[in-house]
Amino acid sequence: MSFQNPVFIPGPTNIPESLRKACDMPTIDHRSPLFGQILHPAREGVRKVLKSESAEIFIFPSTGTGGWETALSNTLSVGDGILAARNGMFSHRWIDMCQRHGLEVQIVETPWGQGLPADRYEEILTADKGHKIKAVLATHNETATGVRSDIAAVRRALDAAGHPALLFVDGVSSIASMDFRMDEWGVDLAVTGSQKGFMLTAGLAIVGFSQKAMEATKSARLPRTFFDVHDMAKGYANNAYPYTPAVGLMNGLNESCKMLLAEGLETVFARHTRIAAGVRAAVNAWGLELCAAAPDLYSDTVSAIRTPEGFNATSIVTHAASKYGVAFGVGLGEVAGKVFRIGHLGSLTDVMMLSGLATAEMCMVDLGLDIKLGSGVAAAQDYYRGNALVAQKDAA
Ligand SMILES: *Cc1c(COP(=O)(O)O)cnc(C)c1O
Repeated sequence: MSFQNPVFIPGPTNIPESLRKACDMPTIDHRSPLFGQILHPAREGVRKVLKSESAEIFIFPSTGTGGWETALSNTLSVGDGILAARNGMFSHRWIDMCQRHGLEVQIVETPWGQGLPADRYEEILTADKGHKIKAVLATHNETATGVRSDIAAVRRALDAAGHPALLFVDGVSSIASMDFRMDEWGVDLAVTGSQKGFMLTAGLAIVGFSQKAMEATKSARLPRTFFDVHDMAKGYANNAYPYTPAVGLMNGLNESCKMLLAEGLETVFARHTRIAAGVRAAVNAWGLELCAAAPDLYSDTVSAIRTPEGFNATSIVTHAASKYGVAFGVGLGEVAGKVFRIGHLGSLTDVMMLSGLATAEMCMVDLGLDIKLGSGVAAAQDYYRGNALVAQKDAA
């Protein structure tokens, strides 16, 4: 692997130089006002990125998966009902975590490549007169299939059914890259990690709790120690954690939020949309198809690209790594070997993306696919020329 090349995996993402420097700092007393000067602005920054006025933000030394566990263990009890659709590897893993915690998951099997079925959710919630279902899970962006779901529609389903269940949203590969509106969508638990839209290394679980979710923590009985938000809140009140925080990463997170807010969230989202549209133009020019079944499902952070029948899509990823020192994502679970994934989120520009598309093309031609060198790159170039942001802020 060449350290000069950007990565094109859907996380961890490329780390801007300024954030790498922010993480590299001398040891400080992590129970001091000095740490508070990092901790409180970082939490405030995250709250703004989530577009929430009143969410409580908790940040654990962990990853997105730990964020799921934080959300579940603090708000639910053994035997509680959960409603979840399975439409990819990440929603699958979240369901598995619920089951291992003794929660009773009603699973809506959904073809991989489709979005969350808000209509089915509404039917099931309407039928649940006794309100056995305590939480509805929604994976905003299925990183395995490159599918973005409509969280506002899931909220409407809950409201139409008049159902009080909490709305849990996995935004690990969408938050800070694609529009996310915690308050407007009535999200109760918003989960993410440090290594995708926030452009840092893995190491932080980031979770927003609505006031309703905070209320639920009082009666929730699932065991929790490391991820207990009440212990964490007591720590925060003293500029500290109940244990040792990842100080450098927290400093990086604080800087990351400043960077995102300085670029402007809407500009960040527009940059992702534009870069993704260029990737999709290339895929189309190659004569290939996305795993995502329809344009309104296309993710702006990752594209899962189907390769022709009989071709092993994973070979593109292995070949790109060994011959060109470039990383793409493999297919996971049901679509392993059938798709390869191009991650296009975080610190990325049109120019970086063109290099990734050029590399994918070289690999596909090397491996005998009937694709013309330059075809996808030209389609993306055309798109980027016509849709350039005049002054691209220094995102990289
Ligand atoms: C990456 C990812 C996760 C897992 O996050 P980790 O930080 O690896 O624990 C969960 N959900 C989605 C949608 C993801 O993209």
